[in-house]
Amino acid sequence: VTRHPFDRLPGAAALDERDQEFRAGIRALLAEHPAPPYDSAEMGPSIRAAMAWQGTLAAHGYPVPSCPRAYGGVERSPAEQLIQAEEMAAVGAQFSVNIAGISMLTPLLLAHGTDQQRERWLPPVVAGQELWTQLFSEPGAGSDLFALRTTGTVAGDVIRVSGQKVWNSWATVADHGILLVRTDPDGRGKRGISCLLVDMATPGITARPIRQMNGTHEFAEVFLDDAEIPLANLVGELHQGAGAALRVLAAERSGLSMGFYALLAAEFEALLAQASTARLRRHEDAVLDLWIDLATARLGALRLAGGGTGEAAAMGIAAAGKMGVGDMSMRLAYLRADLLGPRLTGYPEGDRLAAAMAEQFTGALAFSLGGGTHQMQRNAIAEGLLGMPR
Ligand SMILES: Cc1cc2nc3c(=O)[nH]c(=O)nc-3n(C[C@H](O)[C@H](O)[C@H](O)COP(=O)(O)OP(=O)(O)OC[C@H]3O[C@@H](n4cnc5c(N)ncnc54)[C@H](O)[C@@H]3O)c2cc1C
Repeated sequence: VTRHPFDRLPGAAALDERDQEFRAGIRALLAEHPAPPYDSAEMGPSIRAAMAWQGTLAAHGYPVPSCPRAYGGVERSPAEQLIQAEEMAAVGAQFSVNIAGISMLTPLLLAHGTDQQRERWLPPVVAGQELWTQLFSEPGAGSDLFALRTTGTVAGDVIRVSGQKVWNSWATVADHGILLVRTDPDGRGKRGISCLLVDMATPGITARPIRQMNGTHEFAEVFLDDAEIPLANLVGELHQGAGAALRVLAAERSGLSMGFYALLAAEFEALLAQASTARLRRHEDAVLDLWIDLATARLGALRLAGGGTGEAAAMGIAAAGKMGVGDMSMRLAYLRADLLGPRLTGYPEGDRLAAAMAEQFTGALAFSLGGGTHQMQRNAIAEGLLGMPR
């Protein structure tokens, strides 16, 4: 078993000498600055420690988001972003820390924001100082996002917002949120939606944690009661926020497929190192099947990194990648149970590794829902990749 899972996955031929140098650089930096441990029971402090660590990587020239120098970052090629995700996963970094800031806000503002908005909001994400949440889903609007009913009314230089959001990851500890509201009461579907950046400490905003069956409370439901948001925090045009929202969803899906593939490949390698030879033999087919799919996921990520696929096909590949990681996450959870057996369920108190594995087991299904369900990804693949009718 090698230390670095990514050395023995296929795809090296798609990376050139500069990419390999980049890998050596980030690997050396990570050896000097180990990732802080993540403890979901101490969610807030754990996330802040991980963000501070991301800030250290940025200070050494390896910021997590790809972001222009003008906003404190470094612009990275997709291949370099993939390599960084792999190397961070290999040292046990929680890739999803500040995913809303890194994989959603950054591409959103680069495409739709004003210079002032980029100057205000991007440098603190690069430096690991400000935590973001995504305020999109509502009790009646998930897959059908544009059925959202939270309203925003312009009043002078503010927008007054009322409504409810749900399933918002890290909203109880986040500094800011990307919020979708309906500002045109006569608008239907995508028409009449606006995208706002909100300070979670704004009077009228309350985030209540949702306790999950695996003991964590990553999610929140967020209530907005006549909260006043500065009009200056509007991203793009009033009533025209659907394009910005779709940009966020696409970026989220690509970020999830790349980041989760790396995380799963690293967890897979760690699992092989823990399992006994006898159990590995007994579950050989499942081990090999999963390895083949991880290898395929990597090749898909490299294909996206290589560019030239066209936007619709890229959306389809990202959807396939997102669906793939959702599926592999569950298979890895079952394989872990098969390989480690009773240690997974009957673990003694204080066995932190086993507790973390049990948490992963109960949480594995989440990846097939978050960022759009499997069924919605299938729709994207059918339309974007296969050219089938809507
Ligand atoms: C881990 C995780 C993290 C999340 N984080 C956030 C977050 O930070 N911010 C946020 O705003 N939201 C977040 N969500 C919410 C997530 O976006 C929604 O759960 C998701 O979009 C599905 O919406 P829903 O739960 O309302 O289910 P529904 O949309 O009600 O779907 C119910 C079922 O119907 C199926 N279905 C619905 N429409 C169609 C269709 N057109 N074709 C075929 N099948 C369909 C779905 O696939 C699903 O099986 C998160 C969810 C998870 C699990």
